[in-house]
Amino acid sequence: MKKTIQRKYAKLIARVGANIQKGQTVRLFINADQYEFATILVDECYKAGASRVDIDWSWQPITKLDYRYRTLKSLSTVQKWEEDRLQLMTEELPCRIFVISDDPDGLKGVNQTKMQKTRIARYPIIKPYRDAIDNKHQWTIAAIPSFAWAKKVFPELSKRQAYEKLWDAILKSVRVSETNDPEAEWAAHNDNFKARCAWLNAQKFERLEYKSANGTDFTAWLMPEGRWCGGGEYTLSGVYYNPNLPTEEIFTSPAKGRVEGTLVSTKPLSYEGQLIENFSITFKDGKAVSWKAEKGESLLTKMITMDEGAAMLGELALIPCNSPINNSGILYYETLFDENASCHVALGAGFNECVDGFETLTNEECKAKGVNESMIHVDFMIGAPDLSITGYKNGKAVQIFENGEWAF
Ligand code: ZN
Repeated sequence: MKKTIQRKYAKLIARVGANIQKGQTVRLFINADQYEFATILVDECYKAGASRVDIDWSWQPITKLDYRYRTLKSLSTVQKWEEDRLQLMTEELPCRIFVISDDPDGLKGVNQTKMQKTRIARYPIIKPYRDAIDNKHQWTIAAIPSFAWAKKVFPELSKRQAYEKLWDAILKSVRVSETNDPEAEWAAHNDNFKARCAWLNAQKFERLEYKSANGTDFTAWLMPEGRWCGGGEYTLSGVYYNPNLPTEEIFTSPAKGRVEGTLVSTKPLSYEGQLIENFSITFKDGKAVSWKAEKGESLLTKMITMDEGAAMLGELALIPCNSPINNSGILYYETLFDENASCHVALGAGFNECVDGFETLTNEECKAKGVNESMIHVDFMIGAPDLSITGYKNGKAVQIFENGEWAF
């Protein structure tokens, strides 16, 4: 991909994604083989006003070695320097930029139990720092291709061709082309989100009913003080940023403990570097009580049993089948993209910002209003071409989705 267009994209990440403020620090998370794009992006971060850019490099083959050679105790220990860094993050409130490019199968063969136990052990130590920065800083996730990822998406092409084709697809999905003004396109895109959210929020639905011929038959109650979000968000200090590039979703958090019925997945789920395919989950009193998967069932079980909240839902997201990502026909094996192809839900943590007036509430108060809590937040796709979603209020039904598309 041409350097000029890569720079245009890097600029979009720095200015529209993270919206770096003058003098702000940045923490960039990127894979070690992406040093060329990292160089362009760091340059754009400084041009946007960053005072310092810290980089966290990672590389799946080394992550694999860590899991193979280190003891569970060693993996589970949060080192003092790590905590110092987390502490610094709560003081500096940096922009965090995540540039993903992992091989969806890159952690195949890693001991899943060791991985799960590591996460469980580290979570309580890291969580207070995460809570301390929630909604106070800008963060954004964007993606660039790697050869391994591109080959997974386009196995029939050569390594080089697949790589270029994935670049094209990513840039199209984030509205960057050689001739356009991506910042203006994102402004229009965000206006669109605002209009749909305003309509949904005005409806004040009590519950949503999902139905599809594939077996999805599901009801979710909404928090009485819940709200729908989509597109850009504001930090508590009023900085507008876009957490996901791309994004097509409008979402809310359901009321904790109040979902019933069965959801059937419509796309494979890539979780912890491995795939879960053709699965369904049945909920009772808000909790997953049974599930099955044609592929990756034990991994699905690990995910759902990670902690108490992992068996409950944290997100309901609405995306029409006629979305640019779905229309591309590409399966990315990466949630950042695939979640924008169709309606989905997420197991695990909900969003405080989906509570009205969350700005003045504590984390505990948001949880008390029905936001689920968990160490995981994993989206899976349930959108189908015949999906219908009906909203109910005082016994009155309003069609929200019909045949996989917006009905309003
Ligand atoms: Zn989502």
